Amino acid sequence: MIIAGNWKMNTTPSDAGSLALTIAAADAVGPFTRNGGVVVICPPYLSVPVVAARLQPTSVLVGGQNCHWEAAGAFTGEVSASMLADVGCRYVILGHSERRRDQLEDDHMIGLKAVAAIGAGLTPIICVGESLAEREAGVTVDVVTQQIDGVVAAAGADTIRRSILAYEPIWAIGTGLAATPQQAQEVHAAVRSHCRSRHGIDVPILYGGSVTDQNADELFAQADVNGALVGGASLKAAAFNEIIRAATPHV
Ligand code: PEP
Repeated sequence: MIIAGNWKMNTTPSDAGSLALTIAAADAVGPFTRNGGVVVICPPYLSVPVVAARLQPTSVLVGGQNCHWEAAGAFTGEVSASMLADVGCRYVILGHSERRRDQLEDDHMIGLKAVAAIGAGLTPIICVGESLAEREAGVTVDVVTQQIDGVVAAAGADTIRRSILAYEPIWAIGTGLAATPQQAQEVHAAVRSHCRSRHGIDVPILYGGSVTDQNADELFAQADVNGALVGGASLKAAAFNEIIRAATPHV
């Protein structure tokens, strides 16, 4: 099980370190990580160094929220995978729906970013998910598997074999309206089967979208849910701790 916290554009470098330490010191973290569970916190770029320094003696790992596909060069405002690795990141979220929407990232770009991330020693957490209109039209699995195919086409199956997928229905992100455990399981099972049969890969699949301490138990009880990508609740140490506790029996 992998529990990743996406802090998005929240926390300043002045307050990120203490939130990270509070999360790492919470009582569910030790039993979870000692038994093989992985906890990752993904702060904004500027807070990564302070969070990485504070978490270095703990079992909680650090990730970025994005990276560029090139290693260096004339890309104003961008950050490379090797820069993230150099300041202590082990993971990087790629293709979050907010970036697909606001930065117009597409599957090809996300695949190239995954290659760069693997090259820098990072594990990509690649996000896919459908809009509400797509779910209502009954094309959820088509949309999600097409996104995966597009990423694999750009990155190659070997890169995605070393990655993690996160199924994040867009309508569930930040809305308080999580997918039901059955909806999540249905898509996760379809994604797993597609990845195996089409690409010969079997990777962990996280669920993301309004995961809280109230619904984590039931989501984690689903056979194909291998953890969560948590936004809002990862900024609340007590709620994040309860989510980790809910994942512990499934490590
Ligand atoms: C996310 O940002 O990836 C996310 C799932 O957010 P939230 O948990 O707030 O819905």
